[in-house]
Amino acid sequence: MTYEMTINGKGVMSDRTIDVVNPATGETFATAPDCSREQLDHAVDSARAAFKTWKNMPIAERQAAVRKAADILAEHAGELSRLFTKEQGRPVDMAYGEIDGSASWMKAVAEMTPPVEVVEDSDAQFVETRYVPLGVICAIAPWNFPVNLAMWKVAPALVAGNTVVLKPSPFTPLCTLRIGQLFQKAFPPGVFNVITGGDDLGPMMTSHPGFAKISFTGSSATGKKVMESASKDLKRVTLELGGNDAAIVLPDVDLDEVAEKIFFGAFFNTAQICVATKRLYVHHSIYDDLRDRLAAIASATKVGDGSDQGTNLGPIQNKRQFERVMDLLDDAKNNGLTLLTGSDVPDNDGYFVPVTIVDNPPEQSRVVQEEAFGPILPMLKFDDIDDVIARANDSEYGLAGAVWSKDTDKAMDIARQIETGTVWINQNLTLRPDTPFGGHKHSGLGVENGMEGLLEYMQPQTVYLARG
Ligand code: NAD
Repeated sequence: MTYEMTINGKGVMSDRTIDVVNPATGETFATAPDCSREQLDHAVDSARAAFKTWKNMPIAERQAAVRKAADILAEHAGELSRLFTKEQGRPVDMAYGEIDGSASWMKAVAEMTPPVEVVEDSDAQFVETRYVPLGVICAIAPWNFPVNLAMWKVAPALVAGNTVVLKPSPFTPLCTLRIGQLFQKAFPPGVFNVITGGDDLGPMMTSHPGFAKISFTGSSATGKKVMESASKDLKRVTLELGGNDAAIVLPDVDLDEVAEKIFFGAFFNTAQICVATKRLYVHHSIYDDLRDRLAAIASATKVGDGSDQGTNLGPIQNKRQFERVMDLLDDAKNNGLTLLTGSDVPDNDGYFVPVTIVDNPPEQSRVVQEEAFGPILPMLKFDDIDDVIARANDSEYGLAGAVWSKDTDKAMDIARQIETGTVWINQNLTLRPDTPFGGHKHSGLGVENGMEGLLEYMQPQTVYLARG
């Protein structure tokens, strides 16, 4: 199958290609176009031309088009999920969940309408504040949730009246390219464009003068470069960046009930989730018990090729990330930390790392301080609530966190002291389309989702009408 970019409603190949590797085997199984500068210019010009009519369409028509695109995505969830597993690594049923869930998410966004506020309606004057779209959006997505995180951008940007040029990660380009083709049945030419390329394409896009705004999801290090590049011509930015989320487990929890939830809150998607639990603080009185339960779940968790039945966790998505995770693991070993390792992993060229729990490492060890983005979970003991809140907050990141306790008042009190954009109590990883999601500190700038997220694709305009 040939995967083409979609520019101005048409499939477009390029002279050069990038390889797409199956992370479960390490083998190249497809190629994707490597977008040239001229093709980027063409995509931006097409999106700018389409903006002129798209922005003036009644919002109900734009919402209907996004709903239609969501239906198309849901109809193709089976086909796309198999492709997803090949390029991303996640087991097929969970890949299906991301694609089908993205379709539902888009539909929820299509229900949102930006407000128009009448500020004054008197004999002297009429004053209203409304929201207008920005122009062409540069949407850049990562590889860990390639469909979901792209649709978080595409749906609100289009509902708001902007047009979009979307770039997936070079590690996971294929589903997005296919979605680019499929969505042409929902949108006029130029409204939604998909381009792919190697490491040069992102910077080429962020410095392109034709974009009004960049919506970026990825690492904090890259996010800083994006912001620097955007500053040259004051492009608007929304940055969804890294996290090193702490979960705090109080002594009153029922371990039978919470152990598995805590485990998958850390390791789902092979721990490649921005809001995964990445530091697990456990009260000393239940520490050994929870550690042994998590180690037992790790031993029973099947790590392997996501296209094999019964696989719970797939490989690390790409070689670069695999090497980063292995480096962190080596550092832990070299420093004599105690590692509890789960089930065996396939012995092939795939990027497999066994589920690993690090038993009470020093707070300053790299495995605690850095975002692993792989299946290595440091478990740490605490005695005192104020102390553990301070340790949880002692991070340059501020994306999400969790508190586990039967005492919900106490848990709420702790949650309110956690310096992150999202905090869960007795649950994990739950997100909804109608609430803002974003990071504090180096975890991001601005928000996605909710009315706040929609309005990030617009700017206010106040109109003053003199009367009398
Ligand atoms: P990354 O920063 O390496 O890449 C993200 C995207 O940016 C890719 O499409 C990449 O090609 C592009 N890119 C790379 N260099 C660029 C540059 N100089 N200018 C413009 N674009 C550039 O991140 P990743 O490794 O793909 O994703 C993992 C990271 O993303 C983790 O840190 C994770 O926590 C974070 N993340 C955050 C969220 C969130 O919503 N906050 C969600 C998922 C992932």
